[in-house]
Formats: sequence, structure tokens, C-alpha cells
Amino acid sequence: MQILLVEDDRPLAAGLKQALAKVGYAVNHVEKGEMALTAIRAERPDLVILDIGLPDIDGIAVLKKLRADDAELPVLLLTARDSVDDKVAGLDSGADDYLAKPFEMTELLARLRVLERRLSSVKSSEISIGDVVLDTAKQSVTLAGEELDLSRREYMLLKSLLENAGRVQTRAVLEQRLYSWGEEVTSNALEVHIHHLRKKLGNDLIKTIRGVGYKVNGGQP
Ligand code: CA
Repeated sequence: MQILLVEDDRPLAAGLKQALAKVGYAVNHVEKGEMALTAIRAERPDLVILDIGLPDIDGIAVLKKLRADDAELPVLLLTARDSVDDKVAGLDSGADDYLAKPFEMTELLARLRVLERRLSSVKSSEISIGDVVLDTAKQSVTLAGEELDLSRREYMLLKSLLENAGRVQTRAVLEQRLYSWGEEVTSNALEVHIHHLRKKLGNDLIKTIRGVGYKVNGGQP
């Protein structure tokens, strides 16, 4: 697995490179945004760890540019500022996950494992998290083997959350999905659907990330 690390803090980058190499990742490191875009085009990394605060163009701008030609490349954002605005801006721009500095190496490795699993997961028609199984071919959802009765909107919302297990989906992203399914989105439409889903699935599956959005935790431990 080839990782491109975009980080201008040299001591931090050196530490990360060493730690990631130790667990078997191949890491290339660049310090600037423009260099990152060049490296992504030239090297086609499997995953990008991208610092937001860079000396030339910031990480969000890099992310927007790279998303213009690659919607799939997993990107983990590093932010020095633990602000909700940065997280939302990052996720809205297409980041898969974010980590606020300072962070523990074990936390970074856990996030990478989630992204890696998503990357390698074969496109099967079944998505299962715990005892919830969603079958995209049959458009059905079972909880501990029992088929659930979900509305079309609840099904699509759950599918979106499960397909993105391990990463936060912002309110804006989920509301856009509701719009694109032909729903007129009132201010609390999303909450209402989430509430109904929780009643059917239990309260533990869908986590509220305050001020940001919703998340289902990653698949197998
Ligand atoms: Ca920085």
C-alpha cells in the first residue's frame, strides 16, 4: 500500500514516515500542495494523508483540485486547528476522514485500516456492519436476520451511511442525497429520518457527530 504524505512540518513528517514504514506502508513525502498534485498524478498513490496548513496552497484547495479528476482516492486530512469549520469544509470538499493534531500514532493507524478496508472491499451486493445487513441487489435490510420494513428514503440514507462506514457524512452531504432522491428537504427532515432509522435499528449504529453530521462506525474490528 502506497501512501503519499503531504506535510510541511519536517519533524512530524519524519516521525510519521518512520512509523508507517515500520508497519509496512510505502510512504512518499512532499511538503507543498503543488508538489502533492504533481506526485498524485505521477505516482498514483493508494491513499493520501494531507495536512490542511501548507506553505503554498492549503490542503482544502489541494483536495478540491484532486477531487476534480479522482473521486475515489482516499484522503485523510490532518488539521492543526480542531475547529468544526475545518472539519466540515474538509469533508464537504471530499475528504474521507480527518484527524486533529496532535494525534496518537495508534489513532492514525486505526483510521488508515478503515480506509484500507474500504479500498480493498470487493464490490459485493451485501454491506454488513455488526448484525445489520443491507443487500443492494434485493434492496433489503435485515437486523439479526430479521427483515426490516424501511421506507425508500430510510433505505437510501442507511445505504449511504453504511457505504461510508468509518467516515463522517456531513449534514450537507446527506441532505443533498435526500434532495437528489426527490425529497423536499425541510429543516429537520434529516433528523426525522435518522430518528426513524434508530427506532428500527437501535440507537447504537448511527452516531451523531455534533455540529458535523452522522457516522456509522467501521466494519470488522
Ligand atoms: Ca502544516
